[in-house]
Amino acid sequence: MAESGSPVRLTGWGRTAATRATLIPVSGEDDVRAVLDGRSARGVVARGLARSYGDAAQNAGGDVLDMTGADRVLDVDLATGEVEVEAGISLDRLMTLFVPLGLFVPVTAGTRYVTVGGAIAADIHGKNHHRAGSFAQHVAWLDLLLADGTIRRVGPDQDADLFWATAGGMGLTGVILRARVRMKPIESAQLLVDTDRTPDLDSLLSLLTGTDHLYDYSVAWIDCVARGRRMGRSVLTRGRFARRDELPARRRVDPLRYSSAVTVSVPDVFPPGLLNRATVAAFNELWYRRAPRQERDRLQSIPRFFHPLDGVGDWNRVYGPRGFVQYQFTVPFGQEEAMRAALERISDSGSASFLAVLKRFGDGNPGMLSYPSPGWTLALDVPVVAGLAGLLDGLDRLVVDAGGRIYLAKDSRVRPDLFERMYPRLEAFRTVRTQVDPRGVFTSDLARRLSL
Ligand SMILES: Cc1cc2nc3c(=O)[nH]c(=O)nc-3n(C[C@H](O)[C@H](O)[C@H](O)COP(=O)(O)OP(=O)(O)OC[C@H]3O[C@@H](n4cnc5c(N)ncnc54)[C@H](O)[C@@H]3O)c2cc1C
Repeated sequence: MAESGSPVRLTGWGRTAATRATLIPVSGEDDVRAVLDGRSARGVVARGLARSYGDAAQNAGGDVLDMTGADRVLDVDLATGEVEVEAGISLDRLMTLFVPLGLFVPVTAGTRYVTVGGAIAADIHGKNHHRAGSFAQHVAWLDLLLADGTIRRVGPDQDADLFWATAGGMGLTGVILRARVRMKPIESAQLLVDTDRTPDLDSLLSLLTGTDHLYDYSVAWIDCVARGRRMGRSVLTRGRFARRDELPARRRVDPLRYSSAVTVSVPDVFPPGLLNRATVAAFNELWYRRAPRQERDRLQSIPRFFHPLDGVGDWNRVYGPRGFVQYQFTVPFGQEEAMRAALERISDSGSASFLAVLKRFGDGNPGMLSYPSPGWTLALDVPVVAGLAGLLDGLDRLVVDAGGRIYLAKDSRVRPDLFERMYPRLEAFRTVRTQVDPRGVFTSDLARRLSL
């Protein structure tokens, strides 16, 4: 039941750029319509589990719909592996419910605390992008509540323009109420994982170029503090779900057994400055040395392989009260020099960052603001420190000149003119958005900041 409260302070996962809005819990379309009827002049935006890093799920002075109460499973077809769910359900819950039945989410982010609505609105990608594409490619249809209160069922074969504006459209076309998602059949809840340590960036990129097609899932963790010859040294982990007959005998009894638990939580008392170049370099060194030089077919659980950070609750507090920025960009194949230059600037800047994550993307999709496109993508956390803005502005220019782009779900600061150059289908998105929401009822801090 929708209930208006007084404005609350909202941030994304990076804990920067807080603004105040009225947060309204909604559990279905009637609640959403009630909010639209009495909405504030500053408009409305949906919010899932707030795992986007910046201001995408914020709306200063306006209304924000808390979708997490709309989390029911509406239909399951075990024969086809399709599930119909409300948009506020999390990937965590989907895994708990469906892994024991032999179904895994088609795409997962590095955290499982993401709603289906948030996964579609950001068109999230995972370690299997080179094989399976991004989340929206596994959505048969979704129900979208529009600014005028009507509901439109859209999909790749049904009102495709509105579907592809919504996939990656950051909640700006309407409220996703429900979706039908094609899950991935699995025989066990274990992965067979290969690990390779690579001494520098060149060897990593060539290993990925030569052999990535052999694996369903793949990701490299890069040491962003290492410089000189060791710049870009990494630990590459790649794998696939094990078949039941590949498990040791004791695990074959209950191959789909799944459990996930948050083991430790970070207190909200981390002083600024705890993370500095020395502490981060020591951590990265330890982490690199501990990884096997080469290992094959190691069995790993789903949480260990996909969501290692979820084992530590509220780990974003480790960056202290000033918060942090996540910077994620992609450059096309053939622009490896731009990737190298970016890494050089990051490691030379002394902006302490834990490990960065590098991935090789496959083909993109028709999503007008969908982020993945063929090339290399790098994501790293950077604590908010003096001089950061200059470093990141410079990286934006480097990325745009190389024909690349940054990821909206991670962004809180890119310049609008650079953003326009990064997303050539932005005008097509604006056209669709104007058709379905001429008055701009759905809006957010991100939308205002970038004049979307
Ligand atoms: C540790 C960590 C790791 C991550 N790893 C990855 C990764 O590997 N790959 C990746 O792609 N992303 C990754 N992300 C980003 C995350 O997947 C996206 O930001 C995702 O959108 C978050 O979902 P959410 O439910 O928290 O949505 P929110 O952050 O609450 O909202 C994100 C956007 O979705 C919109 N939205 C939410 N629900 C609805 C709805 N029902 N209808 C319409 N719009 C809606 C919001 O308006 C907003 O624009 C990661 C984030 C974290 C914190």
